[in-house]
Amino acid sequence: MSPFLSVVIPIFNEEANIPALWERLSRVLAENFAGPGRDWEVLFTDDGSRDRSLPMLLEIAAAEPRVKVVEFNRNYGQHAAIFGAFAEVSGRIVVTLDADLQNPPEEIPKLVAKAEEGYDVVGGWRQGREKNDSIFRRLPSKVVNAITRRTTGVKLHDYGCMLRAYSREVVDAMLMCKERHSFIPALANSFAKRITEVPVDHAERAAGDSKYGLWKLINLQFDLLTSFSLIPLQALSVLGVCISALGIGFGVYLMIYRVLHPEGTVQGVFTLFAILFFFVGAQFLAFGLLGEYIGRIYVEVRDRPRYMVRKVHGQGEPKA
Ligand code: UDP
Ligand code: MG
Repeated sequence: MSPFLSVVIPIFNEEANIPALWERLSRVLAENFAGPGRDWEVLFTDDGSRDRSLPMLLEIAAAEPRVKVVEFNRNYGQHAAIFGAFAEVSGRIVVTLDADLQNPPEEIPKLVAKAEEGYDVVGGWRQGREKNDSIFRRLPSKVVNAITRRTTGVKLHDYGCMLRAYSREVVDAMLMCKERHSFIPALANSFAKRITEVPVDHAERAAGDSKYGLWKLINLQFDLLTSFSLIPLQALSVLGVCISALGIGFGVYLMIYRVLHPEGTVQGVFTLFAILFFFVGAQFLAFGLLGEYIGRIYVEVRDRPRYMVRKVHGQGEPKA
């Protein structure tokens, strides 16, 4: 019989966090999800960890039959890892969670309760993030959130929080998306009818370092912008029209000026330089954005798998 709740956790070099994570998570699950019709399962994806994470997870799975481990053959990134686990879930409600205990597992029942009210997507909205994350980690998040709100048209406060609950239908719809670059919270929203947000606690990373540097965040932003909207391309055309109009206007002005002041023709040279630079800049921007889309088309047409599973451990595994 399929369980009521599936908890999905991506793991990349989290050996220092796994014991505390499992301790707290299993307690929350035991306390809140017992009894008929409220069974649970936990799916860990080992995203190519190079530390002791995988054996530690396998040990947990060996002791607890409701735990499954999806083993990737290398590191594919957090979102691919979550997808890898999504492909294996069987619960009616699916909760995603980070392994570093920044999202307290104790908040899971709150999200599940909301999902049971009939929401397709329940997002966590991190409270008190100021005291835990550095300004260099929060500022890019702010930008990501603002642009995502614009481009996806869904007004959530916090897209970056991975403590989220999804209905099974939304997860199945996401699994049908074959594109490689996807940002799960935004993708989920495009399939959900009823979306809500609940405030959740946010703690400092329990141990280890964040796997997101500035570059990974910039990449994520490009993913978001280009996979969920054509606005940049459309903005380009608008920008082009505006710049041309300005250019024409300026040309007309120069012509009139020359007719009126035939002696002062040299003055305009520096203005022209300024304008030239403006044009060159705009062109580079345009090419860059076009290139970004074309690059994505190239990646998509190759249609390579988003990840490779080496093995799924746990539940119904044939005895060797
Ligand atoms: N993670 C992953 N693969 C990666 C990077 C991260 O599975 O390539 C996992 C990581 O183990 C953690 C979660 O994704 O459970 C979030 O990572 P992290 O805490 O580094 O991100 P941040 O909190 O800084 O956004
Ligand atoms: Mg974290």
